[in-house]
Amino acid sequence: MTRPRFNRILLKLSGEALMGEGQFGIDPDTTSRLAGEIKQAQEAGHELCVVVGGGNIFRGLAAAAKGFDRTSADYMGMLATVMNALAMQNALEKIGVDTRVQSAIPMASVSEPYIRRRAMRHMEKGRVVIFAAGTGNPFFTTDTAAALRAAEMGCDALFKGTSVDGVYNADPKKVRDATRYDQVSFSRVLSDDLKVMDASAVALCRDNNIPIVVFNIREQGNLVRVLAGEGVATIVRNEE
Ligand code: UDP
Repeated sequence: MTRPRFNRILLKLSGEALMGEGQFGIDPDTTSRLAGEIKQAQEAGHELCVVVGGGNIFRGLAAAAKGFDRTSADYMGMLATVMNALAMQNALEKIGVDTRVQSAIPMASVSEPYIRRRAMRHMEKGRVVIFAAGTGNPFFTTDTAAALRAAEMGCDALFKGTSVDGVYNADPKKVRDATRYDQVSFSRVLSDDLKVMDASAVALCRDNNIPIVVFNIREQGNLVRVLAGEGVATIVRNEE
């Protein structure tokens, strides 16, 4: 399968991607490795912005199930993404990648507030912009934030780094002969409830014609390989 070349991409990293082999929190070695992947992609000529999740620290829905007020729990989840964003920024700057964090919840002493035009300018100057605090609204996820920022920043594609190498017709961790799609349409993902991103994120990408590239971020060097049209991944897009 030949994949189109994507110049400007939004990379969605779930909080779990920063956890490494651990069960919670931020693993410095894993975070450094991810920073290295981003640097390689930039050196290969791509413009990148990043949305980080917070599930390695706090998830609103899980906390609400245990009795927390959902809205407060979601704000706590958004604050967790800010910690991850700062960790990612630190790792990137250590290896010489110019980075800015913009938070959807203004937090003047640790990051810039989210200002679209300013983020655009940073990207034009070759900086990696990390978007923190999701959409800034409870009842959303960082997947939806990723789709939203990808649309706002005029990205050619949303790269979703996961722990599997693409989208399968059934859960490959449970069903032995599950098969992987090379390409699949947004409508199939929604109608078959395939686990890619949450439905609002998928619908936002579909409506704005932003392909979602699902790939394994745990494999060293994979981001650059997939960006070059090599390596294993699934591309979710509108039907021609
Ligand atoms: N969250 C939210 N609004 C947003 C983005 C995130 O309320 O726009 C909260 C929500 O509670 C979520 C938590 O932040 O559970 C962490 O984000 P997410 O679960 O998307 O992180 P990931 O699964 O990518 O690590």
